[in-house]
Amino acid sequence: MRDVIARAEAGEGLSSEETASLIALEDDSLCRALYAAAYRVKLRYVGNGVYLRGLIEYSNICAKNCLYCGIRRDNGRIRRFELTLEEILAAAQLAFEYGYGSVVLQGGERSDGRAVDLIERAVRRIKESFPALGITLSCGEQSLAVYERWRRAGADRYLLRIESSGRALFERIHPADSVFDERLEALKALRTAGFQVGTGVMIGLPGQTPQDLAADIAFFRTLDADMIGMGPWLPQRDAPLHDETPETPEKAARRFRWGLNMIAATRLALRDVNIASTTALQTLRPADGRELGLLAGANVIMPNVGEVEHRNDYQLYDGKPDLDENARSIRLALERSIAGIGEHIAYNVPGTPRHYLARISRRSEE
Ligand code: SAH
Ligand code: SF4
Repeated sequence: MRDVIARAEAGEGLSSEETASLIALEDDSLCRALYAAAYRVKLRYVGNGVYLRGLIEYSNICAKNCLYCGIRRDNGRIRRFELTLEEILAAAQLAFEYGYGSVVLQGGERSDGRAVDLIERAVRRIKESFPALGITLSCGEQSLAVYERWRRAGADRYLLRIESSGRALFERIHPADSVFDERLEALKALRTAGFQVGTGVMIGLPGQTPQDLAADIAFFRTLDADMIGMGPWLPQRDAPLHDETPETPEKAARRFRWGLNMIAATRLALRDVNIASTTALQTLRPADGRELGLLAGANVIMPNVGEVEHRNDYQLYDGKPDLDENARSIRLALERSIAGIGEHIAYNVPGTPRHYLARISRRSEE
């Protein structure tokens, strides 16, 4: 195993079986070796500055019914909300004042004209008010025309997870309203529209194997993704997707372990992309989950900058941390914990993925 890790660190491509064996690692000492190798690759390719993205959960209204998600259309147990343009701008201003360098507008998937307009106007206003702020959108599958409108309004990046790159598993976790080939088309359309493209998967889904996850990493490479956001699947009490056997601490611990292993294996394979250490990791280990993600090769964190008022109604999964924490206390805690692991926050920079910059400069030389 140590030889496999060393070859991956040296940049040799691994077979899919070898990648799967990294993801399945359970032994503590081997896991430590894996994370250390991924961390060295991260230092070499992207450095030890952590990019912060101020997360604005602008609405939990969603037209879709993904089987795992707490804000799916048919969940009648939450209050639906949508921030006003002014509220979105206030959150963006906070991110700017905190020096976060960029914001992420994330919400349920809607394609009605009003919802599309709101995003377009919000992006335009944020860009006008804070031209240096990077803008990422995470608003689900849309047509190329809508992506182009949002891009023209000033959005730079887009996150759209494939959730699982295996067609069969994708179909098991989505009802008929999500079509695998349409998700692939949407990812292509994002590239066509000129976005920096992020994707990712959930880790530890019922029935998912390390081989499936190794195939996901191969998918990230084929897509030539600039950013990766992935985290453990977390059972959600109002969502239909459940494991057949009851949840146990051992199962949660394994999903967490696989989450870190996936970050490390992805860093070793993709080198210069941005990788998020997600809230799902923090949910499983509130004290240090996200910090362990950084030490396994991630370089981005997305702290919430919205008001606490709507947090309870934006629980994509159970146990989401920081429900009562305001943006200011989240920021102070992050500063301390990031310094505590020997890293620093890269303030006031948009944090554009190196991978994207390299692709753009290659294109301009051609
Ligand atoms: N509607 C948009 C953005 C919000 S959902 C979209 O679907 O792209 C953002 C991400 O939350 C999803 O991509 C999914 O991977 C994640 N998510 C939803 N429910 C989850 C759960 N139960 N456990 C872990 N991640 C979940
Ligand atoms: Fe809607 Fe996104 Fe949740 Fe699916 S994952 S139900 S699209 S918010």
